[in-house]
Amino acid sequence: MARGPAKRTEAVVLDTTKLAERDLIVTLLAEDGVLERAVAKGARKGGSRFGAACELYRTSDVLLAPGRSLSIMTDARLVEGAPILRQDFEVLAAAAAIADCVKAVSLEGEGEAIAYALVRRAYEMLAEPLDLAHLQLIVAAFAFKLLALLGWRVELDACVGCGSEDVRWFDSLSGGALCSDCAARVESAELLGEHRRSWLRALLLCPFQELATSPVAPEDAAWMARLSLDWSRAQLDMGLKSFAFFSNL
Ligand SMILES: [Zn+2]
Repeated sequence: MARGPAKRTEAVVLDTTKLAERDLIVTLLAEDGVLERAVAKGARKGGSRFGAACELYRTSDVLLAPGRSLSIMTDARLVEGAPILRQDFEVLAAAAAIADCVKAVSLEGEGEAIAYALVRRAYEMLAEPLDLAHLQLIVAAFAFKLLALLGWRVELDACVGCGSEDVRWFDSLSGGALCSDCAARVESAELLGEHRRSWLRALLLCPFQELATSPVAPEDAAWMARLSLDWSRAQLDMGLKSFAFFSNL
């Protein structure tokens, strides 16, 4: 019975679940930005090229054949020159936070190619030797950029309540910056100084490479990671467990 054509695509592996003795269910973001789930038969057999291409956070060229409920990954090979992350606790936690965020925004069967480019670039950055503060910057920038691309752009220049440009507060649930009058009516609002407001602007506007080489105070980086999680949760109404774990490191 015909079930539509096979799909050959570059993809990033965002999640894997063991299936039977030697197989995996692999969750991938394809280059058209669509989230795909596929069975990879024999992927847990040690030492195979196929297995290596199905590992977490790898970038691979894959062939997906339509199956009864999930697709079947019939071929996979690593993309030459694509990043391979260090098996470092903080790096892997950052990669999991990014995957968490992508899975939360992706609807099966729909996607934006630009989201794939952003994920691919973020994983390239995680392959660089970054300390925790810069990993936090990359994850926070990723979350704010991805959500902005999809229509949830954080407002930093004017109060989301009244439009005043005298903004000294921030509240994720309200949608961004607030003036003192509006903030007085919002219990969860927090103070936002000019220094941290310019950091938030930088997360939205600066390329990852520039952020990765910018000096940052650890407390500012930790704050940005936490705020990007709050922002994502407020917009997506999701728990984001791995993202929360990373933000608490
Ligand atoms: Zn206001």
